[in-house]
Amino acid sequence: MELPEKLLIQPIKSFHPPGRRLMGPGPSDIHPRVLEALSRPTVGHLDPTFINMMDEVKRLVQYAYQTTNTLSMVVSAPGSAGMETCFVNLVEPGDQVIVCRNGVFGSRMIENVRRCGGAPIVVDTEWGRPVDPNQLEEALKASPSVSIVAFVHAETSTGVCSDAKVLSGLAKQYGCLSIVDAVTSLGGIPVLVDDWGIDAIYSGSQKCLSATPGLSPVSFSKRATRKIKKRKTPVQSWFLDLNLVMQYWGTGSQSRSYHHTAPVHALYCIHEALLMLQEEGLDSSWVRHQEQHERLREGLQALGFRYLVEPQFRLPQLNAVFLPEGIQESDLRQKLLHKYNLEVGGGLGDFAGKIWRIGLMGHTAHPDKVDYLLEVLHKELS
Ligand SMILES: *Cc1c(COP(=O)(O)O)cnc(C)c1O
Repeated sequence: MELPEKLLIQPIKSFHPPGRRLMGPGPSDIHPRVLEALSRPTVGHLDPTFINMMDEVKRLVQYAYQTTNTLSMVVSAPGSAGMETCFVNLVEPGDQVIVCRNGVFGSRMIENVRRCGGAPIVVDTEWGRPVDPNQLEEALKASPSVSIVAFVHAETSTGVCSDAKVLSGLAKQYGCLSIVDAVTSLGGIPVLVDDWGIDAIYSGSQKCLSATPGLSPVSFSKRATRKIKKRKTPVQSWFLDLNLVMQYWGTGSQSRSYHHTAPVHALYCIHEALLMLQEEGLDSSWVRHQEQHERLREGLQALGFRYLVEPQFRLPQLNAVFLPEGIQESDLRQKLLHKYNLEVGGGLGDFAGKIWRIGLMGHTAHPDKVDYLLEVLHKELS
């Protein structure tokens, strides 16, 4: 059989991406040890050795989140699917959900609540500022039938850290479950799920964990698990229904059955990346992110960059900065990419065209990378 000619015109060769340094809002640079894990032999997704590795991944996820939650695992899809897993499993039609919004990702939470048939109550804070606990408390007092509070711990669109401990504490105090976005925070700054009483949390593989993009570690408290088990309506998403997913991931020693084919190699990678995090130690990783942030900040400020966020609310892993007077942000950003193989992020939403988002996530948070960026900026700006 002959293929239509138009399908044959352009010869396609293997894809060999350029060796970029990834200093944007994610994905981050991946350690060679983690990349190497990708090329290990394929095994079946129900192979006993693989199931054993999945159990270790669960333990490593518990370590990263500092939790004993048995419902801790990795969703076979990116951070957005982790977000959706939390909402579709916990929100039932008619549920009132407070969503605190101080950037792009809060808006996505609101959309999730709506699509689950829930009623979102939005607590808006100015972009570039953390969520205000007083505003949340007022909303909780004003709406006594609210059952869930959702917020973003580390807003990647603005580089702001909200006080997850205080916000989830308020949720609990008013009898609500909390849903927390920790996509950018996990591994870069403290995320203490049990200490802070968080009920549902999701993250991403490609930010401070520096694994291959496309996976989302999640964890659910006993209270959240109870709510999922007691649902009156089935979860609207078959793929993300935790009652079904857990028959594969397992909550104890029961046998595992097929739900979907796990992304086998991607799970090798996150196993290796989480293992490296455990070897380094969470505290050391937090200190490393903070130190590299300070190194970068000194250099950037000397070059005339200004931070968007007040010092006490800044995320070390996501530096949102205004460029020096008179510099065209996108021209310089393109130059960095094409001339120096260096990716930094532009602004999102309200800040598009106005700021840069410089990521120091995971394996990117390293003095050599910070120094290289500063050197390049020095050359191009002087
Ligand atoms: C990146 C990000 C997401 C989405 O993760 P994807 O892996 O891109 O789907 C969600 N929330 C926050 C705060 C993020 O930074």
